Amino acid sequence: MTKTEAHGRINKLKELIEQHRYQYHVFDRQTLSDAALDSLKHELYQWEQQYPEFVTADSPTQRVGGQPLKEFSKVRHEKRMLSMEDVFTRDEFEDWHTRISKLTQRSFHFFCMPKVDGLAVSLVYENGLLKTASTRGDGDVGEDVTQNIRTISSIPLRIKEEKGRVEVRGEICFPVKEFEVFNKKLVRDGEKPFANPRNAAAGSIRQLDPKVTALRKLSFVAWELVSDLGQKDMEEAWQMLKTMGFRTVPESKALTSLQAAEDHWHALQKKRDALEFWVDGMVVRVSERLVYESLGVIGKTPRGLVAWKFPAEEATAIVKEVEWFVGRTGALTPVAVFEPTWIGGTMVQHATLHNMDEIERLDVRVGDTVILFKAGDIIPKVKEVLKDLRPLHTKYVQAPVQCPVCGSDVVKHEGEVARYCKNKRCFAQDRESVLHAARAFEIEGLGPQIVAALLEQHLVHRAPDLFTLVPEDLLALEGFAEVASQKLVAEIQSKKEIPLSRFIVALGMRHVGEQTALDLAVHFGTLAKLQQATLEDLQSVSNIGEVVARSIEEYLGKSYHQELIADYLRHGVLVIPAKTLQEPGRLVGKTFVLTGTLSFLSREEAKEHIRTLGGSVSSSVSEKTDYVVAGEEPGSKFKKAKELGVSILSEQAFLAMIHA
Ligand SMILES: [Zn+2]
Repeated sequence: MTKTEAHGRINKLKELIEQHRYQYHVFDRQTLSDAALDSLKHELYQWEQQYPEFVTADSPTQRVGGQPLKEFSKVRHEKRMLSMEDVFTRDEFEDWHTRISKLTQRSFHFFCMPKVDGLAVSLVYENGLLKTASTRGDGDVGEDVTQNIRTISSIPLRIKEEKGRVEVRGEICFPVKEFEVFNKKLVRDGEKPFANPRNAAAGSIRQLDPKVTALRKLSFVAWELVSDLGQKDMEEAWQMLKTMGFRTVPESKALTSLQAAEDHWHALQKKRDALEFWVDGMVVRVSERLVYESLGVIGKTPRGLVAWKFPAEEATAIVKEVEWFVGRTGALTPVAVFEPTWIGGTMVQHATLHNMDEIERLDVRVGDTVILFKAGDIIPKVKEVLKDLRPLHTKYVQAPVQCPVCGSDVVKHEGEVARYCKNKRCFAQDRESVLHAARAFEIEGLGPQIVAALLEQHLVHRAPDLFTLVPEDLLALEGFAEVASQKLVAEIQSKKEIPLSRFIVALGMRHVGEQTALDLAVHFGTLAKLQQATLEDLQSVSNIGEVVARSIEEYLGKSYHQELIADYLRHGVLVIPAKTLQEPGRLVGKTFVLTGTLSFLSREEAKEHIRTLGGSVSSSVSEKTDYVVAGEEPGSKFKKAKELGVSILSEQAFLAMIHA
């Protein structure tokens, strides 16, 4: 971005953030998620760091809180109530540490406390009595909420410090459990529930009638002793606050190293759902009072503390490009590409846009700022486009007419949204098919790059070829030494036994996911029976409708696929039959021999399973033995089975066979 463009961007960000903050602080109305707003604020902050000449007094990074409501009388803070700078990554946290370390020659500790999310208030006591309680307001002037605050039992009305003026700051919060009860009641009464405990706390304190506030079970936790009562550091301040009768922010501690602070951050993040209050990060503060104060203030944030936020499930990013990904079925999926963005604890730079309909629905264009969200998946999705931030020149997303990988024509079938590459031998499709099979066989260490290289070197054409690889083949690939080659080949060979349901997944039939594969396995029991199934048979499988049945029939009917299955078997893949519902005695006529120590079952249990399913157990291996189940440290029976060519099952494979 040029300087002029950055200036324009800064102005747009300021306007949008301000608009949402106004709605939020003045009307308690949340129009954008906290995470998305934080993300925008963070971007603005970074631009302002790069171009300090564009920092203006009205920038959202320069203000705290919001305008006080007219109904409350005003309180001027003796000492400004500042806000905090957010950091999102360990790198940013380290940068902060480096910055302040350069500014002070003195050593200091970190005081780490959960960032309890509620409404910040300042309590002023005179000669031991609570005189005023006020909100942060714009940092200089807040609202007088003394009457409402008095209804909160965790706030002492009198403190032991009898002389002079004492100021304590902290957070009014709604305990999560109380919040849930309260919100349910609102819904029952036909009222609108609050978005989160912070909103509810803020809304409750700013009630004009203290009686309403009194009914809500709010708490107060102190996080700062503002007055100088001789405390040297935060630990001493904590002790004094407790002596005065305040509850301090729980789970707080003084730590010495960056690593210890990071560990505490992780620990808090892990148990955040179990904490009494809603916590969205950890505040790290220079513990020693004199060092903290000497660091001073930059803009409207103190240099001596920082809020290290927990990973948010939402973030904002600018779409740089839209690329088309070719899947194993040849379907083209649009993927938005953006600068590396931190979301849900991982760095991502792609988000799926699904298809052209979705692109049109979102009206997303290249150059747009979007809100990304993660909903349990690894790949984030685009939630909405922030049209207020749309630049003058955006580029519409065009559906490709040619496959971006092989250049073949792209087709769109009647009644379907997706577009497909016409070329059945498209490199991208081959690569994705092999990758898909490798995942179904649970082969570790076979990523997209290696698969692409195997295809390019003609070592593998289709997935079954993976099982023919020998270490020498892999040596031809870049970066493959002898040990790595042997390791990967051994890994592939160790995954040759596969339960029927996983094998069906590996085939990659259209419309057949894991659940359908399981249904098919349970219904047909063996691969041979599935291969012989008619359309009618397929339609009689529970949960399988006509479209899916047709897709399976079509797949199995093609010679290309029949050869593929034959290749798997020829290359030594052993498909373990599934336990069918129709045939409880499906091991009838099969003879088993057990050897070695089993870890999940006792021998007796294993024998019982075999007999229940109609099989028999023998104590010695002969030509008549169908399977030898080999546990840990198998004995001579294992050797004999090998000599006679009897099928040998690992305990895992045996378990899959009886439980499938
Ligand atoms: Zn193609």
